[in-house]
Amino acid sequence: MHNAELAELLALQSEQASGNAERALRRASRRAFTWHTEAADLMTEGRDLTELEGVGPFISRLLKEWLDSPAAAPDPPPIRAGFLSMAQAERVLAERGPTHWANNPKGDLQMHSTYSDGYAAITDYAEQAIELGYQYIAITDHSKGLKIAGGIDEATLSRQAKEIDAINRRTSKQGLTVLKSIEMNISPDGEGDMTPASLKKLDLVLGAFHSKLRYKQDQTDRYLKAIRNPLVHVLAHPRGRIYNFRLGLTADWDQVFREAASLDKAVEIDAFPDRQDLNTELLAIAAAAGVRISIGTDSHHPRQLGYILLGLASAAIAGIAPERIVNLMDLDDLLSWTNSLKKLSR
Ligand SMILES: [Zn+2]
Repeated sequence: MHNAELAELLALQSEQASGNAERALRRASRRAFTWHTEAADLMTEGRDLTELEGVGPFISRLLKEWLDSPAAAPDPPPIRAGFLSMAQAERVLAERGPTHWANNPKGDLQMHSTYSDGYAAITDYAEQAIELGYQYIAITDHSKGLKIAGGIDEATLSRQAKEIDAINRRTSKQGLTVLKSIEMNISPDGEGDMTPASLKKLDLVLGAFHSKLRYKQDQTDRYLKAIRNPLVHVLAHPRGRIYNFRLGLTADWDQVFREAASLDKAVEIDAFPDRQDLNTELLAIAAAAGVRISIGTDSHHPRQLGYILLGLASAAIAGIAPERIVNLMDLDDLLSWTNSLKKLSR
């Protein structure tokens, strides 16, 4: 029994519980996707399941029961379907071998600092990125329209740019460039909330929907408008789904991805474990459309940069061509791509 199946059992159990137990079970169900070891392997080795992050005696007892008499876990409902676990992703990447592209990303293209709703300074991300051997990271704080996430305005964005310049003077010696970027809030009409002048100073612009994410009708039109917004380079967490919380939007994905490909835009794999948006299923459609793919962890703390493995494994499973993955480009190539888009937006 794999961690993803245990996650489903934990989620089902939470539906029978209430209060603290319900919350603990829901949290453990989410956390199971972040464990690096299969709980089953841990048990075979005679180790304690409380070694797993977020597992106390209560959850450990349940996991042990299920692992002692394994039965096939039911298929998850759509709101929990199509999520890879870290243990699974690490297995997929190990099978590909150390020289495979999926084991050699050059950077991470979505993370949040204390400028918006992140829990770390830009310099902390830079240090961790150097550890990971990256050429670049993009700092993508929320834009001003997203008040709930501490979105920043144009003045703050330019203050941040000065801080990034100062950091780059130090980190460039170690081969790392911090990219000026943003996760701009996009209205359902495809409109951004920042002045074009402020966006043109950035290296990379992500655009993302954060409202009206529970519509059930086809949203193709909204996606085409966002993709056609000349200031946006990457459509971030396209569906807006969140594990066991929100299903996300639907669209004619083939049409959306083909439009993005024809405009040379990228669509994102938000590799945060609860999001995995796009996931392998939609990435297979993206692979056929030949659209560029940008991978970002959506980290809110440097320790979450490790979630990139979920994005890389999904891309590998879906058969994305490596030359279509933005994060495999050298810095110069990445910047010439975004500069070519910026020229078109004049
Ligand atoms: Zn977002």
